[in-house]
Order: sequence, then C-alpha cells, then structure tokens
Amino acid sequence: MCSSVVTAFEPVIGLEVHVQLLTASKIFCSCSTRFGAPPNTNVCPVCLGMPGALPVLNRKAVEFATLAALALNCRIHETSVFARKNYFYPDLPKGYQISQYDKPLAEHGYIEVPSSKPDDGNQNLRSENREPGTTKKIGITRVHLEEDAGKSLHEGFPDSDEKTAIDLNRTGVPLIEIVSEPDISTPDEAYEYLTRLKEIILYTGVSDCNMEEGSLRCDANVSVRPRGQKEFGTKAEIKNVNSFRFIREALEYEIARQTDVIASGGKIVQETRLYNSHEGKTYSMRSKEQAHDYRYFPEPDLLPLIVDEKWKTEIARTLPELPEARRLRLVKEYGITEYDAQVLTASKSLADQFEDAAKAARNPKRVANLVQGELMGRLKAARAEIEHSPISMTGVAASADLVESGAISGKMLKDLYDLAFARNKDFPEVYEQEGRPRQSSDTSALEQIIDEVVAANPKQLEQYRSGKNTMLGFFVGQVMKASKGQANPQLVNELLIKKLE
Ligand code: ADP
Ligand code: ZN
Ligand code: MG
Repeated sequence: MCSSVVTAFEPVIGLEVHVQLLTASKIFCSCSTRFGAPPNTNVCPVCLGMPGALPVLNRKAVEFATLAALALNCRIHETSVFARKNYFYPDLPKGYQISQYDKPLAEHGYIEVPSSKPDDGNQNLRSENREPGTTKKIGITRVHLEEDAGKSLHEGFPDSDEKTAIDLNRTGVPLIEIVSEPDISTPDEAYEYLTRLKEIILYTGVSDCNMEEGSLRCDANVSVRPRGQKEFGTKAEIKNVNSFRFIREALEYEIARQTDVIASGGKIVQETRLYNSHEGKTYSMRSKEQAHDYRYFPEPDLLPLIVDEKWKTEIARTLPELPEARRLRLVKEYGITEYDAQVLTASKSLADQFEDAAKAARNPKRVANLVQGELMGRLKAARAEIEHSPISMTGVAASADLVESGAISGKMLKDLYDLAFARNKDFPEVYEQEGRPRQSSDTSALEQIIDEVVAANPKQLEQYRSGKNTMLGFFVGQVMKASKGQANPQLVNELLIKKLE
C-alpha cells in the first residue's frame, strides 16, 4: 500500500467494553457468581429463565455500576429503566437479556488519554510519537447495567464434534457496558483508552478486569473516511478479541483493509468481523442484513431504578483517589518523574505500598529517589515488571533508612541491590547476609575513629556539652563517614555517648 493512499484516509474508532462486577451474587437472583464452579451448579429458576420466576435487583450491583460510572466522569441519571433485549440464542435461556436501553444509568463521561501526534499515516504509531504532557478526552456515551448470558462449550466433551454443551453459571452475572463516542483516531489511542479504562475500574475495585476469565470484554467499531470529510464511513464491528494488544493489531489490520477497499473504489459493508490473532487478520462473521432487531421494551418485572442524590453521594464518598490524580500528586509530593509515577501507580496496591513505605521511612523523598535511581534501571535491565521486583517497597524503605542513618554507604547500597537482583531476594534478607558482617564492630578501631572525630570538631563538642543533644547526630554521621559506612551505627551511638559525656 503506498503511503499517499494511507494519508488520504483517516480511521474513526469507537469501543464497547463489558466489565463484570465483582458482586458475590448475580444481578437478579442470589446465585453465586464464582468463576470456575462446575457447569450449571450456580443456577436457579430466575437465572434459568423459568416462566414466573421474578427478578430482584441486587443493590450492590447498582452501587458498583454507579461507582464505576462516577469514576468515568459520567452523569448519573436519577431514574433509569431496565429493558428486555430480545434475541434467541442457546446461551440465553429466557430468550431475552435484561439490559438498559433508552434510559441508561449514566451518560456523558470521558477518559483522558495522552494525545498522539496527528496521524501521519504510520500504522505503527507508538508511544514515542506522543507529545509529552498533552491529553485528549475520549467521550463515554453511556454506562449501563445488564446481565450476562451463559457460555457455549464447543470443546472438552466426548461428543463435542457433534454437540455443543452449555454452562449457565454465568447467566445473570452483573455487567456494565461502557460505550465510547467515536472519538478514537488511532489503534494506539484505542490501546491507551483501554489501558486507562481498566486502570480506573481496578482502582474502584468493582471488577478484577480479568480478560482471560471474561470479566473484561471489548468490541471495537472502526470505519475509515477521506481525511477532512465530516460524515463517518460505514463501520465494521470486531468482536471477541481477548487482549488489548490484539485489539490494536486487529484495528491496524482492519483500517488497512478498509482503506484498500475504499481507495480501489469499493464499498465497506456494515458487518461483524472476528480477529484471528495467528494470522493477524479479521474475517466476516455476519453482515448487517442478518443483524438482530432486538425489539427492546421496558422490563415489566422490574420497577425503574432510582439512584437519588443521597444514595449517589454515599456512593461517591467511597470513590478512591484515581490513577491520574494520584500520579500528579506523587510527582509533586515526592519529586519523582512522571514516568516513575506512572509505573508506581500502575496498580492501586503498588501505589499504596510505595506510599506506605515512603511515609514509614525517615526520609520519604529518599525512598522515591531510590525507586527512581536504583530500582527502575535494574528492573528494566532484568526485563521485570515492578510487581515482580525482588526488592519490595518495604525493602526500598529499609535501605533508604540505612543510608539515611549512615549505616551503609551509597556504594554498599548499590552492591546490595545488585546482590538482591542476582539472588532474587528482598533487600533486608540480603542485608542480613551481606551487609552486617562487613560492618565494623571492632570496638578499639572504632574508638580510635571517634577520638579523631571528636578532636577535630571542638566547637561541636562544646555545643553538645552545653546541652545541644542534636549534635550527637552530627558526630554519628562524621564517624560513619570516617569508617566509610562500615561501622555499626548502634555501636557508634553507644561509644559516642560514653565518649562525649
Ligand atoms: P450500533 O447501533 O451499531 O450498535 P452505536 O451507534 O450504538 O452502533 O455505536 C456502537 C459503537 O460504535 C460506539 O462505540 C460508537 O462510538 C461506535 N461507532 C458508531 N458509528 C461509528 C463509525 N461510523 N465508525 C466507527 N465507530 C462508530
Ligand atoms: Zn439464579
Ligand atoms: Mg449499539
């Protein structure tokens, strides 16, 4: 494909993401939502769709959905309405899915993503093409609540070649659907959007967003139009892609395919396509002519859902500090780089660990400096994610305190970090094994150093003797320095006090 053709067209992307809410029971019955239970054991007349069985809305599901929608900057509607989405499929025993249609729980949200440079036709836009510091808002059209369907099992049974089995444990598990505006302009931006979305949802704690277990699923809609044209082109929907990386690849392929079709005078047909990750290609699954007419109507067995101001405020109070805000604060509070703040806030638990450790340490900033100066580089060299770092945040904090007190030198710290990585052991363990023995506990040698230090600092000695107890720290520091960080600080303390009195 020649590049002039590529630059003459621009892609338009909108994403539909389903997220499973981490409630203990299903959305309209009390069946367990536990993943991995034996097939068809977590079912009851309600989620099996037996006639006459009545749904009862799970309060926790509403709270989780509202919390997620608030975190995504949505406006919550005081009244929303459940609707029946009618279609026939083996994994849908009722013949309809209870969802929300024209009156969803929430609308008008957005996610901020780092903005990429205007698409220069390079299909491989990557983060290095980002303009630093600039962000773009991707609109979120709506967030609504719905129930999941069951799961068809095409493999794993003796008669799998002629029959499909069905597991209905998943029917009625609560989901939110998050629909984006067609605001996404590159596959890279789609990847960023999904990464941020997942991060935000994880921070709220309403889902584990585990793509392998299907707790996060994404359908990607994409069209291509001549650059400068206002109207959108005809879109294709890519379904069942099971990683963010594959979604980016599928979009790259699909944009190139559509561009080729249009550039050679053809027309795109509206259709659903599947991505084959082994081939890196999308294939037509069904065209719009075969598309469903869902015949939505309000669910007669459920009252409209009311989330009034008071309830909404209570839910909003449980909203944690979100990743973007936390990143900005960490940069300000600890003086770390934006990149490191990004790494440290990748999960809420990591950010919590870092902050707990930093706060417990004598000098929080030193902890941040060590993370930035000593830990990150080693992790990168070892190609390890910070979650799998041999040195934990507590370990970094412990090492920071040892440097702070003068118990170890910067050089010793570097050596101990190297050893920790080589042995895949946390810092305190390596320090116990290696750090302590090298410390000088030779009393007479130390006493000599102390004598020299005291003799060299008569003014400070006078200040100490006239009641300025803080001068002790000065002397400890001087002795540690003179011993090149090898002295045992506790012993230095004891000997110094004796000497100075
Ligand atoms: P449908 O009725 O086919 O489900 P929607 O209007 O509900 O379509 O949109 C579904 C998703 O597709 C949304 O995320 C939306 O942003 C996106 N979308 C809509 N039109 C286009 C288009 N022409 N090109 C790319 N994405 C689109
Ligand atoms: Zn049930
Ligand atoms: Mg739609």
